[in-house]
This record gives sequence, C-alpha cells and structure tokens, in this order.
Amino acid sequence: MAISPLAAEAQAIAAEFDFGAEDGRRAVRKFVAQMSAGLAKDGDTMIPSYVTALPDGTEKGICLAVDIGGTNLRVCSVELHGDRTFTIKQNKTTIPHNIRVGSTAENLFGFIAEQVEIFLRDNYGSHVPSTATLSKSDHLPLGFTFSFTFNQTAINRGTLIRWDKGFDVPGVIGKDVIQLLQDELDKRNIPVRVTALANDTVGTLMTRSYTSPGGHKCILGAVFGTGTNGAYVEKLSNIGRLSSRKSPTGEMMVNTEWCSIDDELAVLPTNSYDDAVDKTSSNPGYTMFEKRVSGYYLGELFRLAVLDLLARTKHQAHVATVRSDSALLQQSGIDTAILSTIEGDLDPSLQATRNCLKEQLGVEHTTTEFASAVRTVVHAIGRRAARLSGVAIAAVVLKSECLSQGDSHFDIGVEGSLIEHYPGFERHLRGILREIPEIGQTGEERIHMGLANDGAGVGAALIAMVADEEEAEAKQNGRLVALPDPTSIANTCPQIPVAAASSS
Ligand code: ADP
Ligand code: MG
Repeated sequence: MAISPLAAEAQAIAAEFDFGAEDGRRAVRKFVAQMSAGLAKDGDTMIPSYVTALPDGTEKGICLAVDIGGTNLRVCSVELHGDRTFTIKQNKTTIPHNIRVGSTAENLFGFIAEQVEIFLRDNYGSHVPSTATLSKSDHLPLGFTFSFTFNQTAINRGTLIRWDKGFDVPGVIGKDVIQLLQDELDKRNIPVRVTALANDTVGTLMTRSYTSPGGHKCILGAVFGTGTNGAYVEKLSNIGRLSSRKSPTGEMMVNTEWCSIDDELAVLPTNSYDDAVDKTSSNPGYTMFEKRVSGYYLGELFRLAVLDLLARTKHQAHVATVRSDSALLQQSGIDTAILSTIEGDLDPSLQATRNCLKEQLGVEHTTTEFASAVRTVVHAIGRRAARLSGVAIAAVVLKSECLSQGDSHFDIGVEGSLIEHYPGFERHLRGILREIPEIGQTGEERIHMGLANDGAGVGAALIAMVADEEEAEAKQNGRLVALPDPTSIANTCPQIPVAAASSS
C-alpha cells in the first residue's frame, strides 16, 4: 500500500535523524581519540576530579549537599547508613529565569545560600548551631554539585570555564565557585562550610558505587538530564597534568565533559534542525553533542521538526490546526517530557498523543494519521539521542579497557530524566554497544546499568565526607562534623516537626 503524503514527509524528516552502525563506529573511534588527547593536556574536557577512591557501601554519616543541575536546585541532607542504603531529605526549587540569565554572581549564589538557609530552618529549626557558638572548622560540611564546565584544581576549588544549558551569568566565569557560595553563606551567618566541589556525574559514579547491589566494579557515572556528561575511573598515570601525583589507588575519577567532544562536528550528525537549535542557543558552536542528546534541547529539535512537517503539508486538507498561543510557536517552548509521552503511546488510536498535542501543544483537529506522523518524528529524535549516548558510553568502555580484564562484569550508574523516563532509551543506547566490534554482544552483556537516584546529592555528600575525613585526619582528629541526627531530634524534641525522609 502506498503511504500517504503526510506519512512520507514525516519519514523524510525522520531520515534526517538517521545515525547508522558505521556512523556509530566512526564516532566512537573519534571520541576515544579525543578523550586520550584531552587527558594529555590542560583543557575543558577530561577534567580530574581530585576524587581518588570509590566508596564500597560501608560509609556512614550525615552531610549536607547542594545540587545545581540545570533545571532545578536541590538542597539535601544525606544520611549514609553504611550498608549500601541511605536516607535523604531534600528541598527542590526551580531556578528562576531572571537568576539563570543576566543576573549577577551575587544574586545566583545568594539565591543558593538562601535555599540552604530555608532547608536548615525547615528541617532542623532551632537545632542548627549558631555561627557565634561555632569555630569555623566546626561548621557543617556541605558538598556542592555544580554541573557546568569548571576547571578543578583541588577537591574544594574550581573555576567556571563557561556556562551552558541556558545559563548565562556574567561575572562567574574564571571565578572559584566554592568561594562565591561560601561568601554568600558567610554574609548570612549560615554555619556551613563548603568542603567539596563535584560534578553531578562524579556524584552519580560515587552513588552507584555505594549502592550497587551486584558488587561489580562501577566504571562510569553518566547523566542524561537537562544536559549530558559522564565521569569514569582513570589511571592517574594517564592524566597528563597530574601524572606525577600519587594516590593510594593509583586512580582518579575524571569528568569527561563529553557534552563538548567533537564541537568541530567531524563525526556528529547534523541536519537543518540541529543548525537552527545551535544558532539560537546561548553558546553557538559549543556543546554540540549535548545539543543532540539532552533534555534541554530535544524539545526544541522536536518543535522545529514538527513546524517543518506542518509547513511541508500545509496544502493538504485537515492535517491539524495550530492555535496562536501554541507552544510550537515559542522558542524553547516545549518540555522534552512530551516526547516521552508520545514515544510511550503504543495504542493504535494514538489518543494519548492527540490529547498531548491538543492540551500541551495547542494543536487541534488532529487525525490519528497526523498523530502517527508526529510520533515518527519523535521516535527519530529520541532514537538518535539514545544512540549518540551509546557512543559516549562505548568510548568510555573502550578507554577504561575494562573488557580485557578476564570475563568480569561491570556496572554503570546512570541518572537524569531522559534515561529514567524516555521509553526505549537504554535499549537504543545498548544497540550501539553491540555494533562496536571491540564490545559486541558478549561485551554488551557484561555491562550492567542501573539508576543512581539522587546521585548528585548523595555523591556530593560522599565526596564531602571523604574530603572532610582527609582534612580531619590531617589535623589528627578523626571525628566527622555531622548534622544532628534528625530522628534523635524528633525523639528528644517531639514538638519540632521533622519531614518524612524517603529511603532509597
Ligand atoms: P537536572 O538536569 O536539573 O538534574 P533532570 O534530570 O530531571 O534534571 O532533567 C531535566 C530535563 O529533562 C529537562 O530538560 C526536561 O525537559 C527533561 N524531562 C523531564 N521529564 C522528562 C521525561 N519524562 N522524559 C524526557 N525528558 C524529561
Ligand atoms: Mg541532575
């Protein structure tokens, strides 16, 4: 049966997002080469984290953490029970647009400090010690997860290289972000000491290593949320800028910043929608991989592709009507969550897709055929994003040389709304792993993948504890500074409401 002109146009648009097996193999070779080159020099990829050991699940204690990941700001306290489990209490706020763009360093870090203050007040009330009664070294430790490209020079020092994911706050680039946050906390007399700086991917790697049930070595933490990035375990001797440094493990976690591998577009696929997304972004020419993979951009790719579908079929009767207030007509107006809904609509009537088009996108009078054409486009965008994610993961698997270590199995911690919610994301991603000859089906089966939920917060707490322990040991004082145990507060002071903690 001949397909309709509408379906044919949708398929033509979908074909623009093809990324085949040979494309994948070429891209993986390029990613491995760029990762090796990045390790050898000082640059804005392959950044050492100064974290030299993974947790083994027996770690214990309570610590604060802040995670600024792109869309949300999370403040939490994390209690590690020492048996691979933890309890986390957290506050989540959306970062207002006027703070994210065009504000000042003081406004942004002041906003974060205020959220820490609110969290402490809401959860610990009068049990938060006052700065007046504490010496500086007894302030509560806090791990800061800051998921932008920064140059780390110590576990508690790092300067911002550039903004991405729609952030643009002048006056932060080149500054030490720990100091900026500490200054704002101090101004408000909040008794907190920022002891560690981490990227959410390092946190994800640490968290998966702490929680992983199988006991397999965790080789990578990867995030597919607002942005995308990965951190993996590398031999210190391979890290050019630190090769003379020693650590008891001989290893260090490296933040790949794979979001900007191949910004020159030697191997990344590019179509007219990719070009348009890049041109209107806050950082044209940068983070080109991320612009094809992550939640911040997929909604916009979808918007442009659907507008093109409508333009190409405008002479066909009764395709659909776009309301004047439709999100399709607003730049960056579409949440990538919509793509998950449409991809997940398996009912032949495509009623969920049509509802979504009408209610969330202001597209009315749709037919099942139109909904199916839209779904074809969604599938192409999501599948390419997942296969590209597979390229980055395959490159790390090859770079870590883990598969040459007998026939052991390995673990990868993953985090972020896309990998968690986009139907079929992991399946498409694994397709690439199988297509790489050095991995193949047997290699792919030795690689386990699991969610490291709350990775950024728990990871930051794990890193802050390690950093704090090292500092305490240096002072020959093994005691961890920790928050009061919330349950003991509840027991001794029942009048203070303690929020229900969720366990993972
Ligand atoms: P963050 O990156 O701030 O840590 P997330 O991991 O939740 O937060 O990622 C948020 C991004 O994921 C946003 O770009 C959002 O559009 C997208 N997103 C949210 N829900 C979904 C979903 N169900 N499916 C796909 N993408 C989603
Ligand atoms: Mg996140």
